[in-house]
Amino acid sequence: MFCLGIARHGLYGIYLEPIDNEVTSLKSPNTIFSSQPTTIFTVMSALATEHQAINLGQGFPDGEGPEDLRAAAARYTLQGPNQYPPMGGMPALRQAWAEHEKRFYDLDVAWQTETLVTSGGTEALTAAFMGLINPGDEAVLIEPVYDSYRPVIEAMGGVCKTVRLHPPLWSLDEGELRAAFSKKTKLIAVNSPMNPIGKVFTREELALIAALCVAYDCYAVCDEVYEHLVFSGVQHIPLITFPGMEERTVKIGSAGKSFSLTGWKVGYITAAAELLAAVAKVHQFLTFTTPPNLQLAVADGLRKDDAYYEELASDLEARRDQLTGGLAAIGFDVLPCDGTYFLTADIAAFARAGESDLDFCKRITRDAGVAAIPLSPFYGDPDTAPHNFIRFCFCKEEGVLAEAVERLKAYTKG
Ligand code: PMP
Ligand code: GLN
Repeated sequence: MFCLGIARHGLYGIYLEPIDNEVTSLKSPNTIFSSQPTTIFTVMSALATEHQAINLGQGFPDGEGPEDLRAAAARYTLQGPNQYPPMGGMPALRQAWAEHEKRFYDLDVAWQTETLVTSGGTEALTAAFMGLINPGDEAVLIEPVYDSYRPVIEAMGGVCKTVRLHPPLWSLDEGELRAAFSKKTKLIAVNSPMNPIGKVFTREELALIAALCVAYDCYAVCDEVYEHLVFSGVQHIPLITFPGMEERTVKIGSAGKSFSLTGWKVGYITAAAELLAAVAKVHQFLTFTTPPNLQLAVADGLRKDDAYYEELASDLEARRDQLTGGLAAIGFDVLPCDGTYFLTADIAAFARAGESDLDFCKRITRDAGVAAIPLSPFYGDPDTAPHNFIRFCFCKEEGVLAEAVERLKAYTKG
């Protein structure tokens, strides 16, 4: 084969012996990732923008976040440091996170060896899965499952074993959970409080999960980014606090959720030293570090008094109640929600014959001017996934939620 080309410095020609009979197209990129659809959050946010709909889809607060933390970030940006911080995170943030773990969960955490700062919960999850999974390992996932877990586990050669929660209470069946574990189980991913359904796992459920982790000698990757968004009467209990779990749990938090600053992408991990070292080996090649100015501001945030955390949850609880009441009055069947930014509604009363949850969400975005997220993309097998549930995000101003309810009311009546 003779290749002739023009480069900046002139004409060139290279002769190559034929490598293959015929090269007709580029080789395919990584098939696990390239076969993924664009995330449902991006799809619905784009549609909401296109139709100028109220976006109750993707989960982000509509405010700018606490002014004191934004001012602190500005100050730290001017003061510095602004060059690479230490790979494990700024000592101030790691210390503040260790204090947080003691204050809220009575966990004794050595900040130098048992904490790691990441670029958001997403990076922490990816680093944990990549750091733990070898080809052929099994990972237990609880459906509906957050979208980033499965592709990363599968790209590492892991095999996902799923257990489905049963609506309307999103109950976990003990027999089904037991059946998902085997000698090959390397880890279970537990998201509590749980996106998309707002479930907070009970002490009994967590005790069962912990017992299975110990019995099968496997790890738990605990996505607790909504740890402070839990409503009255309910308690968030980290799985790491259960007997036998300390050395096998990767516990993940996110400043995005705890301080209503989702764009900052600052996350943190607590794990036993040996386990954390395996996760840090991935972190050093994924992002290596996280902006130091934001880390220092988040360290200030973590030290906020109890009143801050209480108000964060109670404000959100009021929004949950407002949206639940509004949707129920229209005729939606709203499922229970104990935490997170999200509640689930059954669309059976309003969906057209054969209409999927995705099509329903697109229709109300376009025609009612309110965007929501379908639940079926949170399931691995679309054919057997439920298609009658959608997720509304309620971390919005009172007036925004009121207007969204008005629009849905007018649309469903019309
Ligand atoms: N896990 C869950 C369940 C989430 O909903 C999110 C949402 N953003 C994340 C992880 C990622 O957190 P972060 O924005 O800190 O990367
Ligand atoms: N976690 C957010 C949600 O569930 C979205 C984050 C993202 O867009 N990847 O809405």
